[in-house]
Amino acid sequence: MTPEAGFRLRHKHLLGIEPLDADEVRLILDTTESFLEISQRPIKKVPTLRGRTIVNFFMEPSTRTRSSFEIAEKRLSADSLNFSAAGSSVSKGESLIDTARNLEAMAPDMIVVRHSAAGAPHLLARVCRSTIINAGDGAHEHPTQALLDAFTMRQKKGRIDGLEVAIVGDLLHSRVVRSNIFLLKKLGAKVRVSGPPTLVPPGLHRLGVEVRTHMEEALEGVDVVMMLRVQQERMLGGAFPSLREYFNLYGLTEERIKLAHRDVIVMHPGPLNRGVEIAAEVADGPYSVILEQVTNGVAVRMAILYLLSGGVVGELAA
Ligand code: ASP
Repeated sequence: MTPEAGFRLRHKHLLGIEPLDADEVRLILDTTESFLEISQRPIKKVPTLRGRTIVNFFMEPSTRTRSSFEIAEKRLSADSLNFSAAGSSVSKGESLIDTARNLEAMAPDMIVVRHSAAGAPHLLARVCRSTIINAGDGAHEHPTQALLDAFTMRQKKGRIDGLEVAIVGDLLHSRVVRSNIFLLKKLGAKVRVSGPPTLVPPGLHRLGVEVRTHMEEALEGVDVVMMLRVQQERMLGGAFPSLREYFNLYGLTEERIKLAHRDVIVMHPGPLNRGVEIAAEVADGPYSVILEQVTNGVAVRMAILYLLSGGVVGELAA
């Protein structure tokens, strides 16, 4: 059901998917449709956020999320500032809270934050007056990624309710899997996860998903396969014998795709490790919607910036 006209987000911040209710998630997905249209126009700019200032505060590397937020902000006519650890006083030892308070003294309206520590955006939401948007916190949540994933699934499959989704790979270090599970369960999808036992966080089944050790069982008949990156930068080593072994057991190959539904879509949040979690032919093949996820990411972030700045359904500036 689509939210009624006049419905708005009940939250000041976007800290995760977990605190949102199903209507709020649907509101964001529906609002994204309008912003997708704006991104297809020859002149991709609307005055919606003119006069607003947004700080992109990235304390961890990012390609897609950071550029996607920046493009979304520009398309909405906001003024934005990119701030990262390298080249800033963070490298001189300034604390997260001090840095954020100093940025806030320049009166931004929103701060988009990525940090290696789970809970960093929540901390900032407590000490800052600005609206905080979580762009990925440690292995906790990555809400805008889950929203763009859900938007892509709905666009390709026409629904989320009743979809069978397999999420495969490094589940232990993934914030994407947690946000996706929260979202997909709220909207009625069925989720199976699979990965090497050393990369499955204990208690994951308590989030309402089926955990399958063998990837083949997870893929059986599914509508969507989401592959996760092996996050070697967060591993101390020893989670699996070798990358070749990993690919043999958990790599998505053309052969394994045949186990899924014949109209399956293949997703990946990026960056890809070709030949580790996904074969190059699959990443570039007919089932892949990986680049469409990136396109949709801009529209999703425009919708979020609009809604968090007080935007209301049915009142979008042309
Ligand atoms: N880009 C996603 C993230 O920041 C996924 C990944 O890095 O593997 O969580």
